Amino acid sequence: MWMDTHAHLYFPEFSEDREEVIVRAQKEGVDRIVVVATDLASSRAALALAQEHASLACTVGIHPKSAEDAAAPGFLADLEEIAAHDKVAAVGEIGLDYHRLPSDPQAAEAEKDGQRRAFRAQLAFAREKNLPVVIHQRSAWEDTLATLDEVDNAVRCVFHCFGEGPERLQELIRRGHFVSFTGIITFPNAPLAKASAQAAPIDKFFLETDCPFLAPVPHRGRRCESWHVRLVAEEIARLRGDPVSVVAEASSRNARAFFRFTD
Ligand SMILES: [Zn+2]
Repeated sequence: MWMDTHAHLYFPEFSEDREEVIVRAQKEGVDRIVVVATDLASSRAALALAQEHASLACTVGIHPKSAEDAAAPGFLADLEEIAAHDKVAAVGEIGLDYHRLPSDPQAAEAEKDGQRRAFRAQLAFAREKNLPVVIHQRSAWEDTLATLDEVDNAVRCVFHCFGEGPERLQELIRRGHFVSFTGIITFPNAPLAKASAQAAPIDKFFLETDCPFLAPVPHRGRRCESWHVRLVAEEIARLRGDPVSVVAEASSRNARAFFRFTD
């Protein structure tokens, strides 16, 4: 019934009780969790977890803040080896993150260059493998869209942890992309995300937790887990004036189609 489309279950925050977290999610009706990788090591860890649990799928990819992993020669061969497994549902999280760049302008430019190179290479990889893409974008809106425009938006993307306003949401929808909302939607200081959740067409968004981060109210500040996706849905339903069941059903259907889950 519920799907958490973005969880980092391999993080050390879950090392004491990972199995319980997965079982608890299932008991709460979260029948699918997508474990999202951020570098080569976590791509392998996410796959290993997904192979152990029927309810888990995973992604393969290198986050812009780990772009040095994508500077190694042959990194695409590593991605390819991991992506050969049928538990791999997408490439991600990849993208651009210009938040907290080095203060030295030359070093900042060098980091942006490295991020763009990693992003372009992985977009081409996703296109070749015919996999959808989980996008991480922070403080790099124009460059992220420009990079997607370079490949004619020929890969289907979800902009995860969407916190931008309705105008930017429309820019993505026009390009054929999707968004997913986290617990940020429940924070009082997130007016843009709330406005986008109200404005989003019912067939264009999914739910996620980004756990262990971003626990929704009333768990804010504590460790987030996959079952919290229900609290994200409740707030979206409240904002939209829709029944929770409508948000649950539509968001799961959208995500199933996006990741091409057939069961
Ligand atoms: Zn994430």
